[in-house]
Amino acid sequence: MAKKYLIETFGCQMNVHDSERMAGLLDQAGYEPTRDDRDADVIVINTCSVREHAEEKLYTRLGELRVLGEETGRRALVAVTGCVAQQEGEALLSRTNGRLIDVVMGTQRLKMLPLLLERAADSPFAEVDISARDDVSFPLGMTRRSDPVKAYVTIIEGCNDHCAFCVVPYTRGHERMRARAEILAEVRQAVDSGRKEIHLLGQIVNHYRAPDDPGCDFADVLAAVNDIAGVERIRFASPHPRHTGTRLIQAVRDLGKVCKHLHLPVQSGSTRVLRAMRRRYSRERYLELVAEVRSAIPEATLSTDMIVGFPGETVDDFEQTLSLTEAAQYHSMFSFTYSARPNTLAATRMPDAVSETEKTSRIVALQALQREIQMRLHARAIGTTVEVLVDAVSRRRDVEMSGRTGGNTVVNMPVPPRPSDRPTPAAWIGHTARVLIQRAGPNSVWGEVVGQSC
Ligand code: SF4
Repeated sequence: MAKKYLIETFGCQMNVHDSERMAGLLDQAGYEPTRDDRDADVIVINTCSVREHAEEKLYTRLGELRVLGEETGRRALVAVTGCVAQQEGEALLSRTNGRLIDVVMGTQRLKMLPLLLERAADSPFAEVDISARDDVSFPLGMTRRSDPVKAYVTIIEGCNDHCAFCVVPYTRGHERMRARAEILAEVRQAVDSGRKEIHLLGQIVNHYRAPDDPGCDFADVLAAVNDIAGVERIRFASPHPRHTGTRLIQAVRDLGKVCKHLHLPVQSGSTRVLRAMRRRYSRERYLELVAEVRSAIPEATLSTDMIVGFPGETVDDFEQTLSLTEAAQYHSMFSFTYSARPNTLAATRMPDAVSETEKTSRIVALQALQREIQMRLHARAIGTTVEVLVDAVSRRRDVEMSGRTGGNTVVNMPVPPRPSDRPTPAAWIGHTARVLIQRAGPNSVWGEVVGQSC
């Protein structure tokens, strides 16, 4: 009987996609997926260390698995992968009391997973491999995609920027570009398997330069993906503001399948803090960029990442974060309180801590402002008709479905009366509906389907 595996994923889109790749490798090695940890022979915990909280989840989960093993008298092989594995390596084994972990595998060793599991199964010792590799290729067609509509396609791994707060260069290694030919082959393969929306991924996605095609940059890759038949939408994450120039803005404006949405992580509204963060742009330059995007693509929506309470952030700095937030009018924001990450410049050389109480009061104020802005922007959509790529049907009621506009707004709508060729609500998934917006909330809007574009 085939052995069963369960992959649990914490963190960002990169981690979600790594899990899809590991699932594909395990399928290929003869394992079968399960959703039940009691039934699993192998449990992979794919970790994140971008925030402290994410790291704690690993230890909580390992504790739960220990209890589960005691209850059932059966223990799955446990592999810890992802950023915490890369960061801690062998030390993870000593941090957990007894043999709770069988494999520790770094972010650059995905393809080794089946072999490491096999070795660990036959060994009294845990297998640890966190070595660095420049190779960023991945076998075509071996990814088990978890989403029926969208497909993640990695174009760059790692980062060379070393922003003062960020652990990524230490956990994902230096920047490595994937071959253009391999990227396009994977997009074609994703389309052939029914995916409509392609998400190009990289830590600084717009830093891309093709190793196999001198002169080909990120805008060229967008154009090449735009030309692939069957691709309906293209998104990408994340561009760095420093590398976002007129050429990329024009590509987003002119390429019909590229969603008119830019995620531009700003991190702070204060030039003084941005300098301390080593972001290499100022508040003024960032706002010029926002103005350039708005002027070239008036319908474009923007989103961002923001950190509050970075070491040395004063009340005045924080006020500038609030005023930049108001000026940029983001459709959405991922905001976090600063937490020191191992090995980073901020953790090792910037002791000027903002108190936890102050951080909390700042993030509450920022999130309240952002909520107000989202409410205002969403209310403006009432009465308009938008195109929504349906990606989910509510499990709770089975009558409501949801999807996103090109601008990345979440739209909820009841399933319309069924045409004969759409026997179930689930059959809407992957189709584009035209929706008349009738109500707005801070996180989504609600409307009626008035037509379909397919
Ligand atoms: S650009 Fe900065 S924030 Fe982004 S991954 Fe690189 S170091 Fe981290």
